[in-house]
Amino acid sequence: MQRRDFLRTTGATLALGAMASGCASAPRAVATATAPTDYDPLPPLAPIRARPDRLIAISVCTRPFRAQGPRIEAEKLGRKTVVHHYGHGGSGWSLSWGSARLALREVLATQVAEVGVIGCGAIGLTTALLAQRAGLKVTIYARERPPDVRSSRATGVWSPDSRYCTAEHATPDAVARWETMARESFRTYQTLLGLPGDPIEWRDGYALGDEPFNGGHGEGDGEPVYANLLPLIRSLWPRGQDIPPGAHPFPVPYVRRYTTMVYNLSSYSRLLIEDFERGGGRIETREFERPAELEKLPEKTLVNCTGYGARALFGDDSIVPVRGQIGRLIPQPEVNYGLSYGSLFVVPRRDGIVVQTGAPGDYGNADATPNHAESEAAVRQLAALMAKMRRA
Ligand SMILES: Cc1cc2nc3c(=O)[nH]c(=O)nc-3n(C[C@H](O)[C@H](O)[C@H](O)COP(=O)(O)OP(=O)(O)OC[C@H]3O[C@@H](n4cnc5c(N)ncnc54)[C@H](O)[C@@H]3O)c2cc1C
Repeated sequence: MQRRDFLRTTGATLALGAMASGCASAPRAVATATAPTDYDPLPPLAPIRARPDRLIAISVCTRPFRAQGPRIEAEKLGRKTVVHHYGHGGSGWSLSWGSARLALREVLATQVAEVGVIGCGAIGLTTALLAQRAGLKVTIYARERPPDVRSSRATGVWSPDSRYCTAEHATPDAVARWETMARESFRTYQTLLGLPGDPIEWRDGYALGDEPFNGGHGEGDGEPVYANLLPLIRSLWPRGQDIPPGAHPFPVPYVRRYTTMVYNLSSYSRLLIEDFERGGGRIETREFERPAELEKLPEKTLVNCTGYGARALFGDDSIVPVRGQIGRLIPQPEVNYGLSYGSLFVVPRRDGIVVQTGAPGDYGNADATPNHAESEAAVRQLAALMAKMRRA
């Protein structure tokens, strides 16, 4: 996800962003925030040690975006049935459980006792687990597994409509399908709270602005207009709270507190793999260059969860890569809040404080080479913000 998508999730898009993109929409943030007098007092906020030499990892991932939304449908391949399940854009983690449930329906319709899942990212792992829980014998075949899959390089927040589909493709059926997925995923995630290693948790964060929030809906340069789906489920999680000047330590006039789900991807991926293996599942390292190679697998029904890999494997040019980069600072357990300001977006994960920025030209860009200067500049911007924060 990028900060723009996140601000929409939290209902705090800035007036400036909407005006710059030329596509301002209804003032959703105003509608979804509490009154300025109705907020919980702020706890002390530990300073983030934002120094470029504390960056321990910089990674790039390509979101597998399809204008029409994810592909979830069965296709005959020789004597096999392949259930395609890929193309989740910037919302793969967030939608995974609900999406997997839809894919499982297609699998169960083939009436097999064994299924092969191709891919071991967010989508493959959740699909495999649900198939296993439905009583099937499941084998995952994948070139990479966590932490080497693209899913492991995500930001790790609840972002269910981030680059899901374009506004043009948001037909009533597509929207209803998204809502089903989002609600089912949200429900499942609430069953994963409070576990050892905190794979999933709720965290507060602060959206900072030099101008008032207006809930505008801005797209990045060169990106299509995405479907605005969040209002359908916005009542599931807490509204933002405007914090008045003087009641917060930030050096900006406008501050809105948000509360969001965070995925601690290291412990969460490990949990998914361990659950799968404990349930008798097997993961085999395999790479497929052509669909015909899938025909040699023993299972009659296969689920294609190859994400961006489906573009090469199945020649699906409808998948557009949307590049994104994150840096991780050494974890600071005392830092329990996130931030967003300008192009800067910070998430307090247990496996490191994620520092993310967006860059022009990400849409259609499949270059996975990390740009160190970009992450270092973001960390310096965060350091400048920390230096200006009022300390009690
Ligand atoms: C910077 C960034 C931040 C993001 N942040 C968030 C976020 O905060 N929240 C959120 O919900 N989403 C986020 N996303 C989106 C999310 O990461 C993706 O939607 C998700 O990772 C897609 O998962 P996947 O399982 O389909 O693909 P992948 O993780 O790419 O998994 C594909 C699997 O298929 C295998 N495979 C591929 N091709 C082959 C082949 N030919 N042969 C054998 N195996 C193959 C791979 O090895 C891998 O195991 C973010 C994306 C980016 C880029």
